[in-house]
Amino acid sequence: MHWRVGLIGDPVAHSFSPRFQQAAFDALGIPARYELWHTSQSHLVERVRSLCDTDCLGANVTIPHKEAVLPLLDNVDPLAARIGAVNTIVHRDDYLYGYNTDAAGLLYALYEGGIGKQDAEGKIALDGYTAILLGAGGAARAAAFALVNAGVERLIILNRHLERALLLATELQQSYDRPVFSLSDPAFLIPSASSIIINATSLGMHGDVSPLPGEILARFDVETTFVYDMIYNPTQTYLLIQASLMGLRTANGLSMLLHQGALAFTMWTNQSAPLDIMRKSLLDRA
Ligand code: NAP
Repeated sequence: MHWRVGLIGDPVAHSFSPRFQQAAFDALGIPARYELWHTSQSHLVERVRSLCDTDCLGANVTIPHKEAVLPLLDNVDPLAARIGAVNTIVHRDDYLYGYNTDAAGLLYALYEGGIGKQDAEGKIALDGYTAILLGAGGAARAAAFALVNAGVERLIILNRHLERALLLATELQQSYDRPVFSLSDPAFLIPSASSIIINATSLGMHGDVSPLPGEILARFDVETTFVYDMIYNPTQTYLLIQASLMGLRTANGLSMLLHQGALAFTMWTNQSAPLDIMRKSLLDRA
């Protein structure tokens, strides 16, 4: 039998996922095809139902359906339920299970950038770090829950619409007793050593715009600050260019894309993902 798995979203044509997921299937000799499933809102229910076909392993989910798929699934992982977004669906024993691999994908990406410690079970710990999260949308929610689960010392959520940041902070504080601050004006940001600045806004995808003004970025300690931009296209956003010029360590969103995809691959196949092969095809693409 030939298996199928695909990306549900609107749009999907720009996605890098087919290339690196297909490379992984091919490398392990798994007869599966990763397809692009462009799906409008009105066809979402039908599309999700089709994942129960016997030849289907599951799916990835992207904008704008990450939230809307939750009630369509048989079971949603508790972390994905708290985040309120599913990016990976697994078809197992005639049931559909929903997960959020963006959260763990970000932690592995940070670790790859030299941030945090990993224990014997692979869990990443971020003790002692201050996380400054730019954004409060879907990707930021996944990041926020990942960061508090990894034990960051404090979390500062900076978002254009303050009420969204406040809402996220309130949700997080229900199970996290360290401080979570919400801001909408970056001028009030007081830098501390060992900061991780994470851009989870869409600002920087087009043109020379940054969610953090250069004069604010310049306040951060060059030795201990790491700047991560979830955006991977372009590979160097204005934020990353400015941070690099100031001497700060940086990385773009390709590593998060890779790790969230590798985790999904393992969930579909029960096999370790061939990370090097996936990374190579992603870098060739980027
Ligand atoms: P989303 O839910 O639409 O959230 C967008 C965020 O950007 C919100 O916080 C929004 O602020 C902010 N924003 C948008 N336009 C802005 C502007 N002009 N000025 C200031 N803030 C603005 O999107 P998402 O799904 O979270 O995705 C966010 C980014 O993460 C995208 O670039 C996406 O490609 C990237 N991402 C990357 C990965 C990866 O694997 N590397 C995974 C997921 C997402 P308001 O709340 O104030 O509107």
